[in-house]
Amino acid sequence: MKTSLSDRPDVLHDAPHALWQIIHGPSATAHHFRVDVDHDGIAWLVFDSPGKPANVWNEETLREFNHHLETLQHDTRVRALVLRSGKDRIFVAGADLKAIRRMPHARVNDLIWLGQAVFDRLARLKIPKIAAIHGAAMGGGFEVALACDWRIASDHESTKIGLPETQLGILPAWGGSTRLPRLIGVRKALDLITSGRLLSASAAKHAGLVSHVVAPENLEKLARRLVREQRPAPRFHLENLFSRLIGHFAKKKAFAKTRGLYPAIPKAIDVVTRAAHGVIDDGLKLERDAVAELIQSRDTSRLIDLFFKREEAAKRPAAAGTAIPIHDAVVIGAGVMGSGIAHALASRGVRVLMTDVASESLARGMERIQGLVSDATRRRLVTKVQARDTLDRIATTTDKVPLTRHHLLIEAATESMDLKKKIFADLAARVSADTILATNTSALSVAELAQTVPHPERVIGLHFFNPVHRMPLVEIITLPETSPEVLATAVSFVQKIGKVPIVVKDSPGFLVNRILVPYLMEAVRLHQSGIAVRDIDEAMLEFGMPMGPMRLLDEIGLDVATHVAKTDAFEKMIAAGHLGKKSGQGFYRYENGREIPPPTHNRLPSHECIQSKLALLLSQEAMKCLKEGIARSADDIDLAMVLGTGYPPFRGGPITFARDTGIVDY
Ligand code: NAD
Repeated sequence: MKTSLSDRPDVLHDAPHALWQIIHGPSATAHHFRVDVDHDGIAWLVFDSPGKPANVWNEETLREFNHHLETLQHDTRVRALVLRSGKDRIFVAGADLKAIRRMPHARVNDLIWLGQAVFDRLARLKIPKIAAIHGAAMGGGFEVALACDWRIASDHESTKIGLPETQLGILPAWGGSTRLPRLIGVRKALDLITSGRLLSASAAKHAGLVSHVVAPENLEKLARRLVREQRPAPRFHLENLFSRLIGHFAKKKAFAKTRGLYPAIPKAIDVVTRAAHGVIDDGLKLERDAVAELIQSRDTSRLIDLFFKREEAAKRPAAAGTAIPIHDAVVIGAGVMGSGIAHALASRGVRVLMTDVASESLARGMERIQGLVSDATRRRLVTKVQARDTLDRIATTTDKVPLTRHHLLIEAATESMDLKKKIFADLAARVSADTILATNTSALSVAELAQTVPHPERVIGLHFFNPVHRMPLVEIITLPETSPEVLATAVSFVQKIGKVPIVVKDSPGFLVNRILVPYLMEAVRLHQSGIAVRDIDEAMLEFGMPMGPMRLLDEIGLDVATHVAKTDAFEKMIAAGHLGKKSGQGFYRYENGREIPPPTHNRLPSHECIQSKLALLLSQEAMKCLKEGIARSADDIDLAMVLGTGYPPFRGGPITFARDTGIVDY
């Protein structure tokens, strides 16, 4: 492929020599784009990497894109350009992180420069340019759209738009940090970039990221119409004149939340607020310099590693066995977890029959589900139609109906072995021979439960976390007799509903709770030895945990915690009616939605000292789980702890932390 940058964008004026080598390097053989210029002079440029599930930006695709832009620029027939994707569910997934991960830093910097130059060429094309987004447009996938005049989107549920780079320890550097604040104003741009949030098409329109949202089949017609309309004028956002001030407050807020542990956030705030006005090229330079610095950090590479671990776990099939697709499921128990699980399943297209012994419990469960659905609609996470479909997929009953049509049952009734045994024995008589019987128990032995049914090989644990709609992790608890088909089906089912499965062995506390217990117990012991509740929690917040251990115990409830870990401290508190947050008093006192710590008497050890003690316990127990084969790999344990407890992602997980700091023999 011949490429030249004869009309080189300003951004290339002082590009490094290596960049010219990339642009003029050996020709690529794959064709990632199709171009068709129709009789109206509209060039339809379709990104569709052959044999790949997703389109991504790397040297090869950027060069080919650049080549097409150059050809179109000199084609006198062309009046307008529409950029589309040939994939079902992805517009452009962003930068090719797999390639970036293997590159030396200097090469990454060149790639940043290349992307900026190519998107800048797109922005400077004199014809109207329209990005017709169907499917995910993330990171660089949205930055290319930001270089267009119009951004329109399909209302399909796969359409997700955003700039998640800060989640990976970097920032949008292909023009995103510079162009977004000019499009939607500094405040909204900061919110989107620092949160890394992805928006549905409707939310993206509301935020001003796209101008129109239509059904996928109408995107083409709309694009044709817009070509004839006047191009939107650049917007003026008065607030951008005060961007430094807005940035100052945004940094303060971010610091309170992250305690300075995620350097990409303040860096992104700096770049966005400084690049919000002035010359685009200056903004692009700020982006390049910031990424060049951030990419060198070990925290950034740990965040990128974790991203791949999660991707892998979300897609990897079970080692053996054929997964059976599940379209219908039964959820037993309509309490906090049962209703949460029913909602999660139904919102991902599974028809659910939710049962309970008490009709009032069913009514309360449905109320909770309705609350979740209307909240999601209000926040534009789902459309009204999707919300209605979710509710329509849930049926309820208190009757003992035949359950032969359902291939999966998830029991989420009250935590009691006797009760669960009765439920399992009763269910076994009402289901067909190939139904999978799953339990959501937090702490009971799955093996003991399995003994109550004629086919223990069809019993499995599906341990969802609370609140189900927010927590991405599901521990899949297996027994030696679990059939490969049951495990494969459970893994693929959890993936289908958008959660991340981690396969673990049946043993007390399974994986996540087992690792947490010694940590929580040590925190209680430290408190008993005279260290203030507030100091213990502060120390772990400074470590990066989302909540300190004492607050977490109050949240769990001491009556619940005592089932897994008995101590005198809990017994005394329970006897006094101090059960934690739900009773208004635990380690903290809860008043008007605020937690009030007990008065501090002494502050003996430093926060670092508390931190290293408690972090050590997490890592030690994680290593024990690895050695005992509770989980299948160190990666699985790290991922489970990040997703299940909010263990600081930039530290990679308790095993990575142990390895990187040398605190435990690895
Ligand atoms: P919950 O008390 O909110 O709900 C339990 C429901 O089970 C109630 O609606 C009750 O009426 C119903 N029930 C009782 N006997 C029944 C029967 N024979 N048939 C059908 N329904 C019956 O409890 P929860 O917090 O939802 O917990 C449910 C399960 O999930 C427990 O095993 C618990 O250990 C586990 N779990 C809880 C959490 C959590 O944070 N709450 C987290 C993970 C797992």
